[in-house]
Amino acid sequence: VKALLAAAVALSVAGMTLAAQRQVEPAPAFQAEVRLDGMPTQGALVRGRASPPVTALILDDQPVTLAADGSFVLGFDRDAPAIAILKVRSARAGLSMTDERRLRVAPRAWRLEQVDAAYRPPGFDVRRPAELERIAAARAVATDAQGWRQAFRWPATGRLSGLFGAQRIYRGQPGGYHGGADVALPTGAPVTAPADGVVVLAAAAPFTLEGRLLMLDHGAGLSSAFLHLSRIDVREGEAVRQGQRIGAVGATGRATGPHLHWGVQWRGAKLDPLLVAGAMPVR
Ligand SMILES: [Zn+2]
Repeated sequence: VKALLAAAVALSVAGMTLAAQRQVEPAPAFQAEVRLDGMPTQGALVRGRASPPVTALILDDQPVTLAADGSFVLGFDRDAPAIAILKVRSARAGLSMTDERRLRVAPRAWRLEQVDAAYRPPGFDVRRPAELERIAAARAVATDAQGWRQAFRWPATGRLSGLFGAQRIYRGQPGGYHGGADVALPTGAPVTAPADGVVVLAAAAPFTLEGRLLMLDHGAGLSSAFLHLSRIDVREGEAVRQGQRIGAVGATGRATGPHLHWGVQWRGAKLDPLLVAGAMPVR
């Protein structure tokens, strides 16, 4: 009887592997174990919940933090391809198996934006390597912040003067795309934490592009960056609460006028703040 059972289990495992290779739609029982609350879209943050026997999730080779209650978040980069693969590891009766789910990622169209600023400000080549090193070090910090579970709020409210994802042209020179959302506000306007987090970078001296840069880790691979600040009110390592004042709007770094640039990332995937915090509230 034992041998028969073992054979049956082996067959079912082989069947799953085969199904994964053929990329057949997952069985209904599997669908019930992982639920997504939003549609995968370029630049989107999608929340979800997994239930036992799911033990781990991997999105295109990025580990997904799975909370004890099964909650998780997935981020889809601005340039995410049309199909993302979500690997689902589950354990049943002491056996571990991995199944694959193909997620269709909705594409978006991006506009062109002209920017009246030099693509590379003075001193860029000399100062940039050290700045990039500090940013990479901050991104490598993982904290146990729980802000990722919260509904994000805009860190400042005002007119959106720059949209996420737009391809930018700096005085005729094509640059990269815009990695965040810009909110036009006067210098000194307060900037608040969009969700609970831990300060992983607080640049007292302005960076060449970002100016006074503040970065928060919200946990589960989700982080925020606030650029061009005139002032930073928190220190590295400090835990901040949603809505807490963390700094003030400015025009430091590569900026044509005072505004807040808010960028959001999930494990290196750049997300659209409008798909993280929703539409800009009316003041
Ligand atoms: Zn910006």
